Amino acid sequence: MGNSILDTKIEFLKGVGPQRGDTLKTELQIFTFKELVQFYPFRYVDKTKFHEIRDIKPDSHPVQLKGTLRRLESVGSGRKRRLVGRFRDNTGVVQLIWFKGVSFLEKKLVIGGTYIVYGKPTLFSGRLNMTHPEMEIATQANMEQSLSLEPVYHSTGKLEGRGLDSRGIMKLQKVLRNKLSTEQVPETLPDYFIKKFRFTDRRKALADIHFPANQNALTIASNRLKFEELFFLQLKMLSLKTRRKSVLRGHVFASVGQFFNTFFKDHLKFELTGAQKRVIKEIRQDIGRGTQMNRLLQGDVGSGKTIVGLMCMLIALDNGFQASLMAPTEILAQQHYTSIKEEVSGLGIQVGFLSGSIKGKKRKQLLELLKTGELHILIGTHALIEDWVEFKNLGLSIIDEQHRFGVAQRASLWKKGIGAPPHVLVMTATPIPRTLAMTLYGDLDVSVIDELPPGRKDVTTLHKTENGRLRVFGMMKEEIKKGRQIYVVYPLIEESESEQFAELKNLMEGFDAITREFPKPQYQISVVHGRMKASEKDFEMQRFVKGETQIMIATTVIEVGVNVPNATMMIIENTERFGLSQLHQLRGRVGRGGEQSYCILMSSFKLTKEGQKRIETMCRTNNGFEVAEVDMELRGPGNIQGTQQSGIVDLKIANLATDSRILQTAREVAMRVLEDDPELAKPHHARLRRYLESDKTYRTNWSRIS
Ligand code: ADP
Ligand code: MG
Repeated sequence: MGNSILDTKIEFLKGVGPQRGDTLKTELQIFTFKELVQFYPFRYVDKTKFHEIRDIKPDSHPVQLKGTLRRLESVGSGRKRRLVGRFRDNTGVVQLIWFKGVSFLEKKLVIGGTYIVYGKPTLFSGRLNMTHPEMEIATQANMEQSLSLEPVYHSTGKLEGRGLDSRGIMKLQKVLRNKLSTEQVPETLPDYFIKKFRFTDRRKALADIHFPANQNALTIASNRLKFEELFFLQLKMLSLKTRRKSVLRGHVFASVGQFFNTFFKDHLKFELTGAQKRVIKEIRQDIGRGTQMNRLLQGDVGSGKTIVGLMCMLIALDNGFQASLMAPTEILAQQHYTSIKEEVSGLGIQVGFLSGSIKGKKRKQLLELLKTGELHILIGTHALIEDWVEFKNLGLSIIDEQHRFGVAQRASLWKKGIGAPPHVLVMTATPIPRTLAMTLYGDLDVSVIDELPPGRKDVTTLHKTENGRLRVFGMMKEEIKKGRQIYVVYPLIEESESEQFAELKNLMEGFDAITREFPKPQYQISVVHGRMKASEKDFEMQRFVKGETQIMIATTVIEVGVNVPNATMMIIENTERFGLSQLHQLRGRVGRGGEQSYCILMSSFKLTKEGQKRIETMCRTNNGFEVAEVDMELRGPGNIQGTQQSGIVDLKIANLATDSRILQTAREVAMRVLEDDPELAKPHHARLRRYLESDKTYRTNWSRIS
């Protein structure tokens, strides 16, 4: 952004210097004034008023008091020594206690002095109490200053070692604010935005975000900064998307032909849902246009994404192209292969399967057919994107359960097209909250299947502890008696050897208990866990799929995509060890047929608040999007699957879980700007263009495309 005061190196700020400067760089990536001013407080301490002692409630938020220190005595000795003070205002008394720095405080604090005290009130043996409160002698000056919202900053051990704890950082922020108050701080948003949304100007926003006079000033500042952050993110994404569409040619799938029509008329075993039809239409428009499709297809587990994918592949074939379908695990890929081959049988379509385990002559033959174009559809694992896999003319690539694939892998698909990159359809059952999808996949188009096939009954979800074990065995027996099958799932831990061992032990003990309760030959049981060879796993899995076993005991390898409609019960052990999205994914393995299904969440009796909330949510709703929203609330957007590597959600001030309204507005405004002025060439968009041109990720992404 040109050369502005904000580009000044951080060591030149008064109070920083070379040593602190280095620490700020390595610890917080603060190199210039700009990064410091954008190092926002993560919370504020409310010192906007003095509370009266008679009004304060124990275990409330920290409060600020003004009064007199009446008594101060050191109690106990040695390590148990503590300092106890008696503090009063006109309305009551609180006891103040210090366990640390006793000698120092004993000397420093003045009995009879008037103090401003700040701390968290608690109740201890019937008395109102504050442990380690902040104490400051009340003077005219600090009494006025104290009535404010005080910023609190994250710090690190190393920074603290240089005197830069939260308070130290606050001092630097103060110096910077005073400096900026006398300088030009360049505006980033067009004037017409500022007028229209009545935004405060950038300098004031940057000052107020650190030192707001009151809650209202804080809200005004943070709204503007949040908007700015989200707006530029959206502008960047959408601009990349528009430019990509205008530059990249895409294969034109102009017509729907024999394969699609015959399949639709004679092979489809059910009526498509409204949502499926709508999505197929969206995709058809996209691939008929002459630009390359990059589309994310979201749909809850069991919503019928596969058939949509298949029908799109048929359109590719109808237009003389090949298609591929890639799945994250061998089991899932195999399952797709088997079912798709069966579904298209009689249509004269050649379907192939490729994974790491297909080797030698078999592989060679397959690759040959692929190159000559005799093979129409290739289904497999990530082996599909290896360099040695050459298509004759790949027109459409489908990726199932995308979060297991990295961005780089997705990009390597593009190289497989001849003349133009293939259209890409990414299918995911990880219901990404809307706000996150808008940010993360802002450059993709999104289609949503928001309807389940008819006749599906919501899975009934119950929570049980060890006390309910016998009752759960009873329920399992009832289901088996009806001819149904059951999953029992244990958490999979990948961290350490010892934990893996504990996990295995867990599973084996569970296995023993279940075999005792469900003896052969009346009952047959499959077991699948991470320590087994792929072939053994497959064998056990197949026994269950074919209905030869009634119970499947497994670690979470069954998480993705497995389809056994006859399975109507899922028992999840150690539920507290699973994330919410993962629980929902698991639950999606049942409820796939028309029968009432059950998901039983086993947990220990004692749960953390978060654990409780996860279980509660699972019992309350079957809706994947609701689950995802709660998940994001609980864990923060940074932890949602697939977002960590992207770096996209590295937001400084906006919060995707709570700022969805601002995000929505930011996105709409960005769209309008680009519609009106795609190259940002108009004078009133000069600031926006300059911003994008100075953005590194924008430039690299763009060079990757062009
Ligand atoms: P997911 O979206 O989780 O990948 P699938 O594509 O595996 O879901 O579909 C789940 C099951 O629902 C499959 O057995 C599929 O044949 C069936 N199915 C898909 N669409 C419909 C529909 N419109 N009506 C009835 N059953 C359907
Ligand atoms: Mg699927």
